Amino acid sequence: MKALIYDGPNEIRWDDHPDPGLIDDTDIIMKVTTTTICGSDTHIIKGGVPDTPHGTVLGHEGVGVVEETGAAVRNVAPGDRVIATCVTACGFCRFCTAQQYGQCLNGGWALGHFIDGTQAEYTRVPYAQNSVYPIPEELSDEQVLFLTDILATGYEVGVLAGNVGPGDTVAIVGAGPVGLSTVLSAQLFSPGNIIAIDLVESRRRKALELGADYAVAPEQAHELVNDLTDGLGADVTIEAAGFPAPFELAADLVRSGGRIANIGVHEEPVSLALDKLWAKQITLTTGIPSALSIPSLMNAIIAGTLDATTLISHRMPLEDMENGYDTFSRAAETNALKVVLAA
Ligand SMILES: [Zn+2]
Ligand SMILES: [Zn+2]
Repeated sequence: MKALIYDGPNEIRWDDHPDPGLIDDTDIIMKVTTTTICGSDTHIIKGGVPDTPHGTVLGHEGVGVVEETGAAVRNVAPGDRVIATCVTACGFCRFCTAQQYGQCLNGGWALGHFIDGTQAEYTRVPYAQNSVYPIPEELSDEQVLFLTDILATGYEVGVLAGNVGPGDTVAIVGAGPVGLSTVLSAQLFSPGNIIAIDLVESRRRKALELGADYAVAPEQAHELVNDLTDGLGADVTIEAAGFPAPFELAADLVRSGGRIANIGVHEEPVSLALDKLWAKQITLTTGIPSALSIPSLMNAIIAGTLDATTLISHRMPLEDMENGYDTFSRAAETNALKVVLAA
């Protein structure tokens, strides 16, 4: 088969790769019909995720058709359309039994990280019972694709961890694909104000299009939040950028008793201004999704209250994967948000 292979920092190629086969009884083999490229893939390519072995097939977001199932797989059968989540969950370790699937000792973020992933014609998904969900007939690949990662991430690690509630002022720092997924899914809880904060004008415009009430550059954020909250600060701030300055802004904008939910993938230490925060009774959360929200988000998509297909900026055939990476990596010029590749 063909696959997108990571050969070490700044080296990727769409090339021949051995077909995956079942290894454990709990595996499935999925024929990939639609996949996409994530910021985490570019972290790997830049060398920011050093535990990814050279020769790994990248990709942790995949929709496809079950080709083959291990003897212990009960939830799906050959021929079923399924999504494979970005986290693989064994179901029995210390963390899975606490439903913290992202921390699974036998999986977690495994696909396209330390085992071959979904940017390929076929992929092996371990622990299918907890890691693969059938797709209702009425939903297209594109409608469910982002449940595999960014939508589940924005919703679980941002909106749910930040405990967004009705009437809240929510400041989302970073309006890339994950920040925009947070803008979309925060609306399920009827917050009072959603503020998207980003340096890039086109992303601010997109945030408004997707339902943010305000979209501002970082230097305007304090004044806006103060105006909207009588100087108290935001109820919830969500960091969806993964750099020190956006995190520090999120920590600075939160009110006393508020919540800071970090989603961003950080490559360097970030300072936490405890000299300002020590008495403010804030909650700070971090993590990756468990993907347990997928069934309910899928229902929201069916009901028409959630539509993430608006995040698609480019569509290409699967074999144009190298071109897809090029487009995604030059987002400032190409306005790329999500590049979707279909077989
Ligand atoms: Zn991702
Ligand atoms: Zn586990």
